[in-house]
Amino acid sequence: MDKGLLFIISGPAGSGKGTVVKSILKKHPEIKLSISMTTRQPRPIETPNVDYYFVTKEFFQDKIENNEMLEYADYNGNYYGTLKSEVFDSLENGRDVILEIEVDGAMQVKAANPEAITIMLTPPDSQTLESRLRGRGTETEENILKRLNKAKIEITFLPKYDYSVINEDGGADACADLIYSIMQAEHSKTVHTKSIIKKFE
Ligand code: 5GP
Repeated sequence: MDKGLLFIISGPAGSGKGTVVKSILKKHPEIKLSISMTTRQPRPIETPNVDYYFVTKEFFQDKIENNEMLEYADYNGNYYGTLKSEVFDSLENGRDVILEIEVDGAMQVKAANPEAITIMLTPPDSQTLESRLRGRGTETEENILKRLNKAKIEITFLPKYDYSVINEDGGADACADLIYSIMQAEHSKTVHTKSIIKKFE
């Protein structure tokens, strides 16, 4: 059986990547979304062990020391990271895995696994970015400004990504379809399809 492929989707806060990723998974439930671990507090709408594994700083540090993390990063004062156990078994079993992670973690994974495919989702422009961040209504002003600043820095990493996708207002489904097409195209690369030749020997 062919192995699954590892896709990394990054996008600053306000890029709408949460909605886009949900739309991909709804249409294609065979794809696995890695559940990240974080030390930040859950938001009211979030479900523990579904949206994130919410843990203490001590617990997170133990996982780092035990070499159980594929990557991790400090984002606005909290740790976020991917457990190896969320990723490698699924890939071995032929399932594609999506990591929805920020740029530092994405670069760590790409450096260690160059075959991983990186996709950056961006808002169309900085006004749209700011209005989306304010529209969410769950963050303090201080946090909004921090996230806005961080978002602008994250977007400068775009040339290091394999693909970029722009999420227009109301465009989440179209973005999901485009990203799924990218995923299918990656599977069609000859490096993944060499076994076809054997069928003609
Ligand atoms: P939020 O607090 O809005 O859920 O996430 C903040 C940022 O952390 C987002 O850019 C999100 O993609 C990123 N993030 C979520 N999980 C992980 C992870 O496992 N590793 C890394 N490096 N970033 C993550």
